[in-house]
Amino acid sequence: MIKLNTHYADLKDSYLFYNIAQKTKAYLEANPGKRLYRMGIGDVSLPLCGAVIKALHEAVDDQADKERFHGYMPEPGAPFLRRAIAEHYRARGIDLGDGEVFVSSGASDELGDILDLFDRDSSALVIEPAYPAYVDANVMAGRRIVHLPSGADDDFLPEPCEQARADIIYICSPNNPTGAVFGREQLQRWVDFANENGSIILFDAAYEAFIEDETLPHSIFEMKGAKTCAIEICSLSKTAGFTGTRLGYTVIPAALKRGGMSLNDMWVRNRTTKTNGVSYIIQRGGAAVFTPEGQRQIRENISFYKENARILTEALDRLGIWYCGGKNAPYIWLKCPEGMGSWEFFDRLLTEIQVVGTPGEGFGECGEGFFRFSTFGSREDTLEAARRLTALLSK
Ligand code: PLP
Repeated sequence: MIKLNTHYADLKDSYLFYNIAQKTKAYLEANPGKRLYRMGIGDVSLPLCGAVIKALHEAVDDQADKERFHGYMPEPGAPFLRRAIAEHYRARGIDLGDGEVFVSSGASDELGDILDLFDRDSSALVIEPAYPAYVDANVMAGRRIVHLPSGADDDFLPEPCEQARADIIYICSPNNPTGAVFGREQLQRWVDFANENGSIILFDAAYEAFIEDETLPHSIFEMKGAKTCAIEICSLSKTAGFTGTRLGYTVIPAALKRGGMSLNDMWVRNRTTKTNGVSYIIQRGGAAVFTPEGQRQIRENISFYKENARILTEALDRLGIWYCGGKNAPYIWLKCPEGMGSWEFFDRLLTEIQVVGTPGEGFGECGEGFFRFSTFGSREDTLEAARRLTALLSK
């Protein structure tokens, strides 16, 4: 009989978003006519910016024209987009060749697929609380996972340590769910640690565009020695509203080698075997993000979410609730008041003020007692949620 990948049986049920959906549904059925204020969503609420829409329309017209039509795209990405991304890095002082940039259809796809480069016997370090896909993608492959908990004591930014030794190291900065961002010196310590141990860092930079404190690194390649130990995975989902359009990019330096093998060459081979490239139309839309007009317009959208963050964090400041994030990230991570558990706080917000957030426990055990607010919602909902939260907790 055929043998299946039995590691799928080792996956824990992803009950977080299912449970939230079940609880909100049950509440609305029992309380018809009530309106919810959704502060849990990880999806954007603003549409694509004008520069992207114009480029998408033009690319559709290209596909209708015999002379301008494009068929299969080069698997690692269209040269015009690889160049635009490499130039974007160069403008920040990071020297990359176009061939070190790979276009992807999003960070999630890439975070899963990139594991093809590593042996199943390699171990993976996950700093928790964490984006759940890191653990699940490795469980599916039967890899050993090293969990490194973080907490309010270290501002959810743990230091490398003996316990953190692993072949693959996930670092997400700015972090989902905590919104915490590694500073330069601390990130440099992780890079040095990886180089000393021969580990490879998978640096998830999906939220780098939200960094406003210019002393903080946007890319791991701002660190000395990162080109010999890191892969950076980035996404236009939150940067430019591509959650439904799908586009991301991955940087694999030519200098990244292990055992005489180049990870860049391996990834070219992987992509040419397992994909036929990202759609020409979408890549044209993506290239518009890196134009001066595109950059100005995406900044406006990010500022809108930043204002939502300001509204929510002001309410938390007034209430004296501990939180991190919100300033350089679209997530706010707060300590549940009065020692409440994550789900207990969730239930209280849902039933008493109809505000829906995300219980921290869903991102790893050390997230228990914490709660995540997203700033991707509408202004109206954010203002009302902040007002209701203030009224409830200042009673
Ligand atoms: N990485 C992190 C930390 C995320 O929070 C998300 C999405 O929420 C992703 C990756 C996935 O992004 P994409 O939409 O590009 O697949």
